[in-house]
Amino acid sequence: MGKITIAIDGFSSTGKSTIAKQLAKALDYVYVDTGAMYRAVTLFAMRQGFIGGKRDDLEGLGNALSGIDLKFVYNKSLGFSEMYLNGENVENEIRTLAVSQQVSKIATIEKVRLKLVAMQQEMGKKKGVVMDGRDIGTVVFPDAEFKIFMTASPETRAFRRYKELLEKGEKVTYEEVLKNVQTRDYIDSHREFSPLRKAEDAIEFDNSDMGLKEQLERMYNFALRKIGG
Ligand code: C5P
Repeated sequence: MGKITIAIDGFSSTGKSTIAKQLAKALDYVYVDTGAMYRAVTLFAMRQGFIGGKRDDLEGLGNALSGIDLKFVYNKSLGFSEMYLNGENVENEIRTLAVSQQVSKIATIEKVRLKLVAMQQEMGKKKGVVMDGRDIGTVVFPDAEFKIFMTASPETRAFRRYKELLEKGEKVTYEEVLKNVQTRDYIDSHREFSPLRKAEDAIEFDNSDMGLKEQLERMYNFALRKIGG
């Protein structure tokens, strides 16, 4: 049976990565979390002072990209790959609200997108991947055989993310998280280069009221039909 490419796009905190991870496992495919790559570049930019200081230097960051080495390293005991930035495991640090508050700005930079899209295309060239992000079905793999677009209300998404951050011990308020979700939606959908939009041939999943098991079952069956046909 031939392998296919599965592209999962959608708004922040719709549970894309949870679904993508499980779908990849069920099909024995590779899972690629492209958001982790944008987050790692953001962390680099914060640490090097390109952002977060008096004035952002997005052009400077664009010129410093050759100094960024990104790698996914599979962690056997966790069962998924972790993000390494210049040899350092940054998996936890890239998930903080501080990084979430800066990442959409970094993701507007054309040079950043070109670098990361090229890496993503290389990772998926043999097919057999489930890749999640914002532009996978539109830009990275416009020919993907199976495209999913996930949505849920901002309140549902913010509440999920809020609970996750609290569980990790971050001191955040629900209002802060909701504002972050709404701001990222806005920037991601309105940026000049590859804005977030549903590909014409993507199937939309609104999971505001749908459990994980039901979603996974539906997507798995869909995927099998695509693989078979
Ligand atoms: O998926 P996640 O929420 O981790 O992504 C973080 C941010 O990275 C998004 O809000 C978006 O600004 C950016 N992103 C992107 N294109 C992708 C994946 C993520 O612009 N393919």
